[in-house]
Amino acid sequence: MSLTFEDRILLVEDRIARACERSGRSRDDVQIIAVTKYVSLDTTKAALAHCFRQLGENRWQDAQEKWEAITENTGSGTDDQPVWHFIGSLQSNKVKDVIGKFTYMHSLDRLSLAETIDKRAKQLGIVVPCFIQVNVSGEGTKQGLAPQELPLFVEQLARFKGITPIGLMTMAPYEAEPEQTRPVFKALRELRDEIQSSSEYGHTITHLSMGMSNDFDVAIEEGATWIRLGTILVGKEEE
Ligand SMILES: *Cc1c(COP(=O)(O)O)cnc(C)c1O
Repeated sequence: MSLTFEDRILLVEDRIARACERSGRSRDDVQIIAVTKYVSLDTTKAALAHCFRQLGENRWQDAQEKWEAITENTGSGTDDQPVWHFIGSLQSNKVKDVIGKFTYMHSLDRLSLAETIDKRAKQLGIVVPCFIQVNVSGEGTKQGLAPQELPLFVEQLARFKGITPIGLMTMAPYEAEPEQTRPVFKALRELRDEIQSSSEYGHTITHLSMGMSNDFDVAIEEGATWIRLGTILVGKEEE
């Protein structure tokens, strides 16, 4: 028997509360992005109806239909306006589609992308809050900068006035035993602390986007400020 949306919310909230308690953190310091990439427009609307305003998608092709349907219907400035987070790797030729529609970018990992985003942001007269994606685990299949590339990257970003780096993002490898992901999340927190205190350009880098369905408890214990939850919260629908 599958769980209802209400069941899943209670389960997730209980685990978040316990992770916060174990690590002496406030529940208010952890925000949830409901990742809707595996579900239909209707389920995405259900997430909104359950007060999940922060929505995450990783491909514009898949997000477009939902974005247009939901965003057109709410109109800007209303309370039920969703806030979209782009969490997948972004090709430069998709920047014109995504920037301006998605408020947050979680996967900034190269200067050429920064340059394209910056150009688009200036056309639109906006500043895009971005997470810099770091490949902490070093897995070949994961996007992101190597940790040692971060200081120079942050310095080079400073010239792009259409971008504000607001934090770091990582994906841990899938582990059957989530505790095994701890070193990855801990390393991202330490990188954030270091860049914030030692880099002339690092003061805006305060957030940590880390933790998914399998490992969000550990990510919270290690300081996540945004967790990205798909399967466990919104569900996963087969095509
Ligand atoms: C799909 C995805 C998620 C959510 O995955 P779940 O394991 O279903 O919670 C989070 N972050 C990124 C970058 C993703 O691509």
